[in-house]
Amino acid sequence: MLSRRDFITGTTLGIAGLACFGPFAVSVRAAELFPKKKQRVVVVGGGFGGATAARYLKLYDPGLEVFLIEPLRQYVTCPSSNLVISGLLKMPAITHSYDRLARQGIRVVQDTVSAIDPVARYVEISKGKIAYDRLVVAPGVDFSFDLIPGMDAAARAKFPHAWKAGEQTVQLARELAALKKGGSFLISIPEAPFRCPPGPYERISMVAAFMKRTNNRGKVLVLDANPDVVSKAKLFKSAWADLYKDIIEYTPDVSLKGVDAGKRRLTTDKGELTADIINIIPEQKAGALAFASGLVTKGGRWAAASPLTFESTLHTGIHVVGDAADRDQVGSMPHSGFVASSMGKTVAAAVVALLQGKEPQLPSLENSCYSQVSDTESIYVTGVFLYDATAKKLVGVKAAGSASSGREARYTQHYRDWQTSITKDTFG
Ligand SMILES: Cc1cc2nc3c(=O)[nH]c(=O)nc-3n(C[C@H](O)[C@H](O)[C@H](O)COP(=O)(O)OP(=O)(O)OC[C@H]3O[C@@H](n4cnc5c(N)ncnc54)[C@H](O)[C@@H]3O)c2cc1C
Repeated sequence: MLSRRDFITGTTLGIAGLACFGPFAVSVRAAELFPKKKQRVVVVGGGFGGATAARYLKLYDPGLEVFLIEPLRQYVTCPSSNLVISGLLKMPAITHSYDRLARQGIRVVQDTVSAIDPVARYVEISKGKIAYDRLVVAPGVDFSFDLIPGMDAAARAKFPHAWKAGEQTVQLARELAALKKGGSFLISIPEAPFRCPPGPYERISMVAAFMKRTNNRGKVLVLDANPDVVSKAKLFKSAWADLYKDIIEYTPDVSLKGVDAGKRRLTTDKGELTADIINIIPEQKAGALAFASGLVTKGGRWAAASPLTFESTLHTGIHVVGDAADRDQVGSMPHSGFVASSMGKTVAAAVVALLQGKEPQLPSLENSCYSQVSDTESIYVTGVFLYDATAKKLVGVKAAGSASSGREARYTQHYRDWQTSITKDTFG
């Protein structure tokens, strides 16, 4: 834990400290924007983790002041974004506003948090600072572009990841819709762990489904850094063998060594190659704010947090939920929207209890994840995660986990229903 003295040293006095907190330290001169009238929880990041936490904080204790700080006016869900790329859904189906949360008494501030003072308990945004009693940080992921030689601004523009849904989802959908006959779509998958383990394999299926639907006779070239399909392997591979034998070319254990945007060329340990559409998903880590505000242990990749309340193990009063939280420390759950939302509810209950001087309940998280594999059929996995006192983290309950025995059209309807209910639960 950093003490107030360490923090002051880091922010105002010591050069060494500045290297740690740097430009992200809350400026002492920043104006206080909303003087605190009651107990207040500030939530940073309006994705599945943060928006759910904000909504449930207000539901569990309507007397609390709840702030949600998010730069985007509208949130675009990654879930179902692969269906947009394939042309089965349009962007409005996965786009959500924060208006209903605002109507439910949550103060939604459209801005970016640039700094956190964990000792004086403030966050800083563009116009000043906002005080908190407890803070929930849910910034999602950022990308380690630096691990791919040549992945400069030009390469990022030409080889989109579309691993945060939005403009790049639209870009890939447009490129695919315009793909010439017999064209190729290349996808590069990083080593696990990454956001949504089945996500790349659903994308492969959805691009192949597009090629089949449009009789394109093209190829989906898959470069996977992992030794095998990371999630639902049997189900995906059986769908590919049955439906896309002549379309998908899957190569495991490929290491991406570099890219050349000018020549549209990728270098791997298995040779050089190119394609008409190139989709590179880089390795991921906790969102930048987690690093900037000292929530990640030195040399780490994810934010350190307790498995019981998701309170940071580096700063008291700050809780981390969603993809940014370190799974080695918190538990074996995948980085998914469902888990982020489940963490949001758990943290809301824990924070309300802590503010009332009560003992938080033990957490119990859920996950269910659908993947569409053809124009009509889908597959799924489910899981429940409980605290294990021996492992000292959340672990999957064997008897509660399941997977579909095959692909079925009715699971596609369940997938749509899941999307409707989770977005209603998250955004009100
Ligand atoms: C292609 C794809 C398909 C997927 N499909 C599924 C699925 O079917 N089911 C499922 O459960 N999951 C799915 N996921 C995973 C899911 O999208 C993520 O796990 C989920 O979004 C994580 O939620 P989060 O709240 O941690 O982060 P996010 O949803 O990324 O939200 C983080 C928010 O924080 C904001 N933010 C960041 N920094 C700051 C800052 N400094 N100040 C203020 N705000 C900030 C961002 O703008 C963002 O809105 C999929 C992912 C992908 C890529």
